Amino acid sequence: MSDKKLEFSINEDEQQVLDLVHEIGRNEIIPQRMELDEKEEFPHKIFDKFREAGLFGTLFDEAYGGLGMGPFMSCLVMEAISQYCLGVATSFGAVKLGALPILFGGTEEQKQKYILPLSTGEKLAAFALTEPEAGSDVPNLSTTAVKKGDKYVLNGTKQWISNGGAADIYTVFALTDKSKGARGMSVFVVEKDTPGLSFGKLENKLGIRCSHTRQVILEDVEVPEENLVGLKPNKGFIHGLKTLNASRPFIAAMGVGVAQGAYQEAAKYARERVQFGKNIINFQAIQHMLANMIVKIEGARLLTYRAAVYSDGSHPGTAKFSAIAKYYSSEIAMQVTTDAIQILGGYGYTKDYPVEKMFRDAKILQIYEGTSQIQLNEIGAHIIKESATFK
Ligand SMILES: Cc1cc2nc3c(=O)[nH]c(=O)nc-3n(C[C@H](O)[C@H](O)[C@H](O)COP(=O)(O)OP(=O)(O)OC[C@H]3O[C@@H](n4cnc5c(N)ncnc54)[C@H](O)[C@@H]3O)c2cc1C
Repeated sequence: MSDKKLEFSINEDEQQVLDLVHEIGRNEIIPQRMELDEKEEFPHKIFDKFREAGLFGTLFDEAYGGLGMGPFMSCLVMEAISQYCLGVATSFGAVKLGALPILFGGTEEQKQKYILPLSTGEKLAAFALTEPEAGSDVPNLSTTAVKKGDKYVLNGTKQWISNGGAADIYTVFALTDKSKGARGMSVFVVEKDTPGLSFGKLENKLGIRCSHTRQVILEDVEVPEENLVGLKPNKGFIHGLKTLNASRPFIAAMGVGVAQGAYQEAAKYARERVQFGKNIINFQAIQHMLANMIVKIEGARLLTYRAAVYSDGSHPGTAKFSAIAKYYSSEIAMQVTTDAIQILGGYGYTKDYPVEKMFRDAKILQIYEGTSQIQLNEIGAHIIKESATFK
């Protein structure tokens, strides 16, 4: 078990931030979300509201222009946004995901240069690790970065990059020493206007359609050596692992948020819908479905909050608890959104009610930032280690 004190409280300022997120959710996201989804439109107008409200600052420390509220509060913000639209939450979260390799591995100068404009929302970031032949199998990466004088030349294709094309900076993983495999990987900051950098078509996705996903294509992209994160080559694998351990609680928080949104829609509907002369919420079968939903949500919420508290990397259980929370929240988000459609019956199966979109959106949580199977592999590796000490 753990040794770190678990503290899930927030102060008044933080509560005000969350109230503001819910206000933006109700007034801005709900009226726009279906149209953004249908048109696959990036949520620029909603991001303007986030900027005005200073929400990008909730993701970062004060030293880099943020509000310094810490990972627990960042997760609460992600959860709140996800209650309204997982696509908006994905685009917002991708900024933090793109920033994390710099925060974990960058020099002070790199952090000041790249993180400050992300904290204000002036610029957006993206995280470019996955490739067509390297999804779960990250060590199979083939993008290269070859040193030429005081520059690195990058070549390769990155697949499924959230905020691809929308972001101003990309943290790109590339091999600086092929002979070392994954241990020969480095991270580079590539700015959007760099010659040789281009983007693939907008992926036509099942859900989170307002979050733009594209290939990021690097053809003889030259970056100065100052853009090598941490200025030391072959440290990318460590930066990548730390990034995923820290960001998985965010995905878990997104699962809690979308499940909460679907549960509330289902409960509201069940109070109003009359069949056999009764509001369907009075049928025990419906009550049990709603009860199962909230039991799962509250379980996922506690796992997520613990993982968020541990995600600063100082706890030995960071990786294990991040994987447990990410796995469980993603699974229950899919189950809860599916049951929400069941409670709405035929109406739930149409675009007239938001649960249809929530169900489509939730599926991605079991896939990105490590599939559910990969989370179980990670948990399994911990079990092998820990079970040696079981008496
Ligand atoms: C919408 C979207 C946004 C994304 N955003 C980003 C992003 O911003 N940046 C980024 O770098 N990547 C991003 N990704 C990539 C995402 O992280 C990968 O899709 C994911 O890691 C899975 O890789 P894959 O799709 O190649 O599937 P594969 O790795 O080919 O997996 C296929 C199936 O095999 C299973 N499998 C594979 N290996 C194992 C194993 N060892 N044990 C058990 N089962 C296994 C998987 O669980 C899965 O069910 C995004 C993907 C999507 C769809």
